[in-house]
Amino acid sequence: MPGLPALTPEELRRYARHLILPQVGPDGQRRLKAARVLLVGVGGLGSPAALYLAAAGVGTLGLVDHDVVDASNLQRQVLHGTKDVGRSKLASAAARIADLNPGVAVERHEARLTSANALAVLEGYDVVVDGSDNFPTRYLVNDACVLLGKPDVYGSIFRFEGQASVFWAQRGPCYRCLYRDPPPPELVPSCEDAGVLGVLPGIIGSIQAMEALKLLLGAGETLVGRLLLFDAMKMAFRELALERDPACPACGAHPTLDGLIDYDAFCGARPAAPAREEPAPMELTVHELKEGLDQARKLVLLDVREQWEFDVCHVAGSRLVPLGSLVENAATLDADAEYVTICHTGRRSLQAALFLKSQGIETVRSLRGGVEAWAVNVDPTMARY
Ligand code: ZN
Repeated sequence: MPGLPALTPEELRRYARHLILPQVGPDGQRRLKAARVLLVGVGGLGSPAALYLAAAGVGTLGLVDHDVVDASNLQRQVLHGTKDVGRSKLASAAARIADLNPGVAVERHEARLTSANALAVLEGYDVVVDGSDNFPTRYLVNDACVLLGKPDVYGSIFRFEGQASVFWAQRGPCYRCLYRDPPPPELVPSCEDAGVLGVLPGIIGSIQAMEALKLLLGAGETLVGRLLLFDAMKMAFRELALERDPACPACGAHPTLDGLIDYDAFCGARPAAPAREEPAPMELTVHELKEGLDQARKLVLLDVREQWEFDVCHVAGSRLVPLGSLVENAATLDADAEYVTICHTGRRSLQAALFLKSQGIETVRSLRGGVEAWAVNVDPTMARY
């Protein structure tokens, strides 16, 4: 393969276990040597991803982080050591990678990834591995990848559950096709607040590294168009087929996104919930719903999310009527019954409630905060996404 760097005798020894794999071989290894992968974040997910990608011989690793190693990171961020506490994560990561594989060039981007710098930073890489732990960065990485036509290897974790996918608008759906709206910030507990078992990011970050290598090698079937869900407590993987949302603002038929936006504003746009749970006139709280169900009140629960979301979790007894099919279903609803509309975080359900009201349904309220609030406040065993 012309144009790819040759392998040195030292590299032939180092990568011997790759070279005998037909799916890698010398040409694949040279491809990895020529490859440039960007890791957004070198924390829980970025640690295993960086270690495995460096060990595998990816020629250039770009690292984005602006954090300092804290003692509480070491329980899961295996890239860093006790001696690194107080040191910048990038300095610590670069030293560890140099020790693991001196053949890897590390490019440090010691900054927070923002709308101002993301395109310039991502542009120079073949594959982006998103190891971030917050929604603004996830949407930012997704949108920048869509705009640049690059694959976004996604992973996220929460307590004992993780998920992974590859969002690549040229081949399949993007993150916004899956999650059109960010969850309300008050419902987003960080790892700091929620806790995480240390092995979990090790598993999900390793899956991300595997997907990045497959993308670089052009081998196997990647997670494009699939969302992998992992439940560590059940030690079970599930998989959901993802489709491009034709109305996706980033990658749909008529995309409206032509540049990066203010992602902090986008993800925080919804006003924070007041401490006392006082719903808007057309909303009810999860506690009110729980009370209603406990009293066996006759409530018709309409879940207006998509089938795959319903499959992940739903409030027992609810009926699936995706928002897109509500118009055709509205006429079949009994106008005298009492309805509660439910979605992931309470936005689509409010839309649905307003629509049903306009169609002559007298008593309809939207579940404030959606199944997410239900999982957080009422049923901690419920799967979240
Ligand atoms: Zn999309």
